[in-house]
Amino acid sequence: MSDAPRIVVLPGDGIGPEIVAATRRLLETFGSFEFDERLLGGCSIDEHGTALTDEVLEACRAADAVLLGAVGGPKWDTTDPAAPRPEQGLLGLRKGMGLYANLRPVRPSPALVGASPLREERIAGTDLLVVRELTGGIYFGDSGRDGDRAHDTCEYTAAEIERIARTAFEAARRRAESSGRRPRVTSVDKANVLETSRLWREVVGRVAPDYDDVALDHLLVDNAAMQLVSRPADFDVIVTENLFGDILSDESAMLTGSLGMLPSASLGADGAPGLFEPVHGSAPDIAGKGIANPLATFLSAAMMLRHGLERPDEASRIETAVDAVLEGGMRTPDLAAGTLATPPMPDVPAEVEVGTAEMTDAVLAALAD
Ligand code: NAD
Repeated sequence: MSDAPRIVVLPGDGIGPEIVAATRRLLETFGSFEFDERLLGGCSIDEHGTALTDEVLEACRAADAVLLGAVGGPKWDTTDPAAPRPEQGLLGLRKGMGLYANLRPVRPSPALVGASPLREERIAGTDLLVVRELTGGIYFGDSGRDGDRAHDTCEYTAAEIERIARTAFEAARRRAESSGRRPRVTSVDKANVLETSRLWREVVGRVAPDYDDVALDHLLVDNAAMQLVSRPADFDVIVTENLFGDILSDESAMLTGSLGMLPSASLGADGAPGLFEPVHGSAPDIAGKGIANPLATFLSAAMMLRHGLERPDEASRIETAVDAVLEGGMRTPDLAAGTLATPPMPDVPAEVEVGTAEMTDAVLAALAD
């Protein structure tokens, strides 16, 4: 058996195969990987009648990490509740792999700060990570309707809070290995009102002494929502429960203004493989045209190296190479569209619109520098 990490690759549908193929080229520059390419989503429905087969789930569970493109497309849109749907593949994968933590970094590339809805001086220097609990809280509690009355119940156990808190502290440590700054976790709750939040705050505080190199503070969710737009650069790692995390991770994502740039990771128990994927979907409108932006998937591969394979130096090299290429002016059409209004400025390279292949070649060349 080789020591090469075993990566299950799930290209999926739409632009998925294009951006994942580009990402495999990128990873191959860091030595050998054993890639095991499998079907997920619409392509699996076409072949097997289901979006996720037991064999694929087993392969994912046995891998060192799983890299996903995106799934879905109009071909499989249906109103028939009995028909298989591509998203069922994703949900089945998250459940079957026991993924309970979703990690979304927000780090606008310096060359793209102009795409942010925030003023440049506010967004500059932002480099944060939202860690969201994925399997508990109000989305999974008892719910029901009785005539004009409805209820949804929010429940958390100390064990659920403890494991996500540990994920956040450890992610903060890993990030500090490459950034060199003191790691900090901000735990977000609504402890002035909710009992689950008081338990949340208590348990996070109890776990914190095991990570005494990491600073901890607590913030109420309404305050966190405001601080994210007023001083985003002051955050490092934000950890929060499912509902608050759903909202705050989308709010944070908007800070960059560039959907094609956002990576994500979903992690499970210690030592179990994680799932790494771009935040965007399968973009069926541009599939097959050679113009998909591969950068969110490159940055997802960087997350895989950092959070899944303990190779933080290579992760940082990818992030630096992506920044360098954007600084040089290269833009896939989705990025160019947001910046075309920028007037030409002295000392700023002119923007060049490129496709997936040229963008990939440029990042590979920057890695080799
Ligand atoms: P989308 O993210 O696929 O596309 C939104 C817009 O952004 C489109 O104009 C698209 O061309 C553009 N875009 C997205 N990624 C891009 C990239 N890498 N490069 C260049 N342009 C890019 O969202 P949508 O249109 O709402 O959904 C399309 C399909 O994707 C649907 O079937 C949806 O269910 C699915 N989807 C899948 C995932 C996933 O697999 N995780 C996530 C979201 C949506």
